[in-house]
Amino acid sequence: MSPGDGSTTIFTVNYRDEAPPDAREPRLRALFEHALDAILLTSPDGRIHAANPAACRLYGLTEAEIVAAGRTGVLDVDDPRLPNFLEERRRTGAVRGELRSKRGDGSVFPSEVASAMFRGVDGAEYTTLIVRDLTERNRIEAEREDLARAKDEMVAIVSHELRTPLASLLGFAELLLTRDYPEEERREFLGIMLHETQRLTALINDFLDVQRLDSGRHQLSPEPTSVRALVERALAAAGDDPAHASVVDLPNDLPLVLADPDRIHQVLMNLVSNSRKYSPGGGPVAITARWAGAAVELSVTDQGLGIPPEVLPKLFEKFYRVSSSDRRDIAGTGLGLAIVKGLVEAHGGRVRAASEGPGRGSTFAFTLPVADGPAPRTGVLTSAEPMPAAVGDVLIVEDNPAYASWMTHTLALHGNSTRTASSAEEALQAVAAARPGVLLLDLRLGGTMDGWDLLAILRGRPETHDLPVVIISAFEEKARGQALDLLEYLVKPVAMDRLVAVIERARVDRGRSVLMVDDEPSIRRMVEQALALEGIPCVGVQSGEEALSALEAEPDRYALVVLDLGLPGIDGLAVLDWIRSHSILRDLPVVIFTARHLSDEEKQSLSQRAEQIVAKGKGVPIQTVVARYLGQGSRADAAGQSGR
Ligand code: ADP
Repeated sequence: MSPGDGSTTIFTVNYRDEAPPDAREPRLRALFEHALDAILLTSPDGRIHAANPAACRLYGLTEAEIVAAGRTGVLDVDDPRLPNFLEERRRTGAVRGELRSKRGDGSVFPSEVASAMFRGVDGAEYTTLIVRDLTERNRIEAEREDLARAKDEMVAIVSHELRTPLASLLGFAELLLTRDYPEEERREFLGIMLHETQRLTALINDFLDVQRLDSGRHQLSPEPTSVRALVERALAAAGDDPAHASVVDLPNDLPLVLADPDRIHQVLMNLVSNSRKYSPGGGPVAITARWAGAAVELSVTDQGLGIPPEVLPKLFEKFYRVSSSDRRDIAGTGLGLAIVKGLVEAHGGRVRAASEGPGRGSTFAFTLPVADGPAPRTGVLTSAEPMPAAVGDVLIVEDNPAYASWMTHTLALHGNSTRTASSAEEALQAVAAARPGVLLLDLRLGGTMDGWDLLAILRGRPETHDLPVVIISAFEEKARGQALDLLEYLVKPVAMDRLVAVIERARVDRGRSVLMVDDEPSIRRMVEQALALEGIPCVGVQSGEEALSALEAEPDRYALVVLDLGLPGIDGLAVLDWIRSHSILRDLPVVIFTARHLSDEEKQSLSQRAEQIVAKGKGVPIQTVVARYLGQGSRADAAGQSGR
């Protein structure tokens, strides 16, 4: 019997079975044929005599090809561990170790090889090779190591990032409690404590976001959204940064995208703030967008520190931070980009990072799906949908970030949403992006225009001539505001309660008259009374004609129309059509208040043009519905009380 003749009787050697050899032979062959691991029969000089089917699958070769290839065809001869492996086998007769193996296509893979030498019945020396592919095992091990590393990093970062602000908070709180400091120092310490508290809040919010994204519990409310509005809002919120000019380049024909505006705001804010943070030497930050098939791709590009190519794939991992000397002093947790990725992917988009290398700037881009069809004019509320922002937010125009921050916090405490702008230019952008409910205006501003210039521009434009404006300034120039229809002129410092009260009044004065259209005097009176109890002014009219002339005369006066359908003359449906066909009234919320029984078809058609249908006498208090649209009342009040 000679090696290589296709026979495997060689295996009978050393096999301690009492059965005669010809009875054992078929069992040995079956063992060889069906083994899951690759088995090769070789000679110490590297020749291969036989290979089992598992070996053929592993190498992607036929047995004949394996035999022809020999040892150098299936092992990577450049593996530095190979000489030791062979030497050990020669010395001890058996060896097991990790070696790089080679497939038929030339690709190299990690493997575990066990090899033993024996003497055949023909007296010649043979070896067996049992080969296991370790690719999958190594992948799992690497993953485990990555996880362990990420966990270590997380613990290190969390303890550093939490302990540092906590140490300041603890230290200053103790000092303030145990010593008497002059007022100025007390305030300075409190300022530091406030700042550290804000840092902690942001950090904890990041942790919670990551946690929510990981567990798939992040609630998104995507809606057709203008890319330009998203970009303008982010830039207004990021504020002016003299070292990093913002350069915006958006094509005019971009389609609407399907986005949750608040979440994508968070994505853009993260990217813009990273671009500024990692460009310590300054330089422009460009925001661009382009069509990319069924998506729009937005990119943020800076000319800062750039990113080494080998770490590009890791940037979006949680807690990953580039550790190079040029960014040692830049604080962060490595969570920002993980949140960006999670939020974008939750929208069905993709993120990518690109950089020409260290010192050559970076681009971060993400896609958002294009929204199908035009944006709906108004949503029809169901009890599960959030309350609409019927009155709008407060736009704080203030160049002192600390004071802007105080106003933001104070107003937020009383349920007001706010945006901030630090210059007149930014304020104009923010107003164009979305008309605020109230403008809170400082007179001294960054940029070339002051508060008076801004006010003059706003009063000169038809869309903002009636915008409620409150001036809040250290200058006492109240008289100058008289011609400009100011709601209030506040001189700094302003007490918290006063600020809140003025903003509250701005809304009631300017935004909350309801037009009640009903021919039944008792119903008009009932609704007027109910709304008066809620502090909501109401104007009642008894016919369609009167409604049209009231709206025509003072289109800005009304925040909402409560409309009966069965009116004499011009009926409710005609009034509704008229409102919807007038561009300045098109977005005026209308609540249908009717005793008429409506078919499903009628309800469907009405629901496309009116905010809600409330059935008279069905136990739904109309004032609850109205308050809901005007931003008053609790969500719980309005929930589940849809009259439709
Ligand atoms: P953080 O900024 O808190 O470290 P991020 O997740 O936002 O965390 O970013 C991860 C890492 O990516 C950062 O540590 C930084 O080194 C790198 N990086 C992010 N944005 C940029 C950028 N615009 N230019 C250069 N490096 C960046």
